[in-house]
Formats: sequence, structure tokens, C-alpha cells
Amino acid sequence: MTIFRSKIYRKKSKGKTPKAKAWAAASRYGRLRDAIEYCKAHNIDLRQFSRLEDIIVKCCTCEKVLPWLRMDCGHWIGRGLGGSSGVYFDERNWDAQCKTCNGFGSEQQKKHEQFIREKTRTESN
Ligand SMILES: [Zn+2]
Repeated sequence: MTIFRSKIYRKKSKGKTPKAKAWAAASRYGRLRDAIEYCKAHNIDLRQFSRLEDIIVKCCTCEKVLPWLRMDCGHWIGRGLGGSSGVYFDERNWDAQCKTCNGFGSEQQKKHEQFIREKTRTESN
């Protein structure tokens, strides 16, 4: 039990690689960005949320609406072998996604692609 605990501790703090730290910040930014956009699109007054962490956002691949803090920031294109995809830190490649969908894999990836296609279409109009 003690070993188990110390492993978790290391994973959560000291053992973080610079890349993991950078992703933690990027993911925070991505989810908050989408939460603010979601509220704007639905005329939700941001002042009603007492904390930044409470702002809600909709999952990009299902209908779930949750505070962004409880969401993941899901990648459309994965990191690839050894980071070969090159878009891991590209903000166009991520959207707020619930933990369930983010854990699903390829089926959700298709839905995510559709979501991005629709999003970029409305932006270019
Ligand atoms: Zn979802």
C-alpha cells in the first residue's frame, strides 16, 4: 500500500516531464477556451459562475455538459508514434471532451473529426 501510494505521488508531482507539465497548462487553456465559447454561443452569462472552474462546456463528441474542470481536453489526432504526428500542441487539434468519450478511441475520433469540420465551417463563414 505504501509503495502504491508513493507511486501515485510521484506521478502527480515530481515525476512530471516538462512535456506533461506543458500539456497540463495547454489542456487547461483549451477547456477554458471552449467553455467560454460555449457560454457565449448559448447566451450564458459568465458572471453567474462564482469560480472560473465552474464554467460549463459541452463535450465535443456527446451531449454531456459539465464544468470544464471535470472534462478532458481531447485530441482529434493522437500524438503518433514518438510524437510523430506533430500536432499534439496544436490548439486546433483539441476540444473539451468528457472523460468517457476521451477514453473511447477510434469511434469518437470520427465524431471529433466531424465536430472540427463543422466548427471550422462556421468560423470561415
Ligand atoms: Zn462525451
